[in-house]
Amino acid sequence: ATPTSIMVGTGKAAENGILFKGGEHLERTHQLEAIVLDKTGTITKGKPEVTDFTGDEEALQLLASAERGSEHPLAEAIVAYATEQAIDLAEVDDFKSIPGHGIEAIISGNNILVGNRKLMQENQIDVGGAEIELVDYEVDGKTAMLVAVNGIYRGIVAVADTIRETAPQAIKELKEQGLEVIMLTGDNERTAKAIAKQVGIDQVIAQVLPEEKADKVKEIQLKGKKVAMVGDGVNDAPALAIADIGIAIGTGTEVAIEAADVTILGGELLLIPKAIKISHATIKNIR
Ligand code: ADP
Ligand code: MG
Repeated sequence: ATPTSIMVGTGKAAENGILFKGGEHLERTHQLEAIVLDKTGTITKGKPEVTDFTGDEEALQLLASAERGSEHPLAEAIVAYATEQAIDLAEVDDFKSIPGHGIEAIISGNNILVGNRKLMQENQIDVGGAEIELVDYEVDGKTAMLVAVNGIYRGIVAVADTIRETAPQAIKELKEQGLEVIMLTGDNERTAKAIAKQVGIDQVIAQVLPEEKADKVKEIQLKGKKVAMVGDGVNDAPALAIADIGIAIGTGTEVAIEAADVTILGGELLLIPKAIKISHATIKNIR
């Protein structure tokens, strides 16, 4: 590999908004066989909005107040929704986030739980016939969360996120380049599959706890594949670091950008197949 052609390659990439931290990453991009993409904030814009709430106003007030303690995009969506409805939020006395499951809070002596099925099961909450409704939301690609107050089920809050416009085209191009494309998410399997279908991904790894994301990337590497990880969040950082090529979304967190080898500006997913094209052209010139 001549240093000059590598420099030309990374320069060309940079002009296009693809920032390689060094020439060796461009060379390694050439060898990629699989690519793993995080769902929320990577394939989707990561700005979810509440679409449905089945509970009453009191439950909404407690739910939204509790979510003020969380920095999760889902929490921001819920707080914004309650604020739009001019609901006054209450003081939270105690708050705990349960990674991959939801949150627990104490508000004026009331215990509030918001999260997925697992959270409700672990707290022995009887959610009645909610399962049928949950499935309805999930097949639409929505993230549906259950709410309980003092051990009593109080409703579902469903949230939808928008897919990045160019995601289907980017994934099509990656497949044409011969890459195996996989979606990785902490969200439930049905929601993940609905989103995956909309963008043309057939392999989904869902319900992955934040600390397990890197393990999933490692498993693909153990099969002998050179793999890229694309992510935006703090919880993607270990996976970005362990991947053969970590690709951070420029609009994502600083932690993700630091852990990655490449950053794509503006969250434009088409820059990923573009980066691969540039790496191929560069390596061909070297040989
Ligand atoms: P993702 O990769 O989609 O960001 P997370 O691991 O952060 O996934 O979350 C997984 C699931 O845990 C969510 O789909 C949701 O059901 C639940 N969850 C996480 N954070 C919250 C929260 N602040 N409020 C309610 N539920 C939450
Ligand atoms: Mg994300």
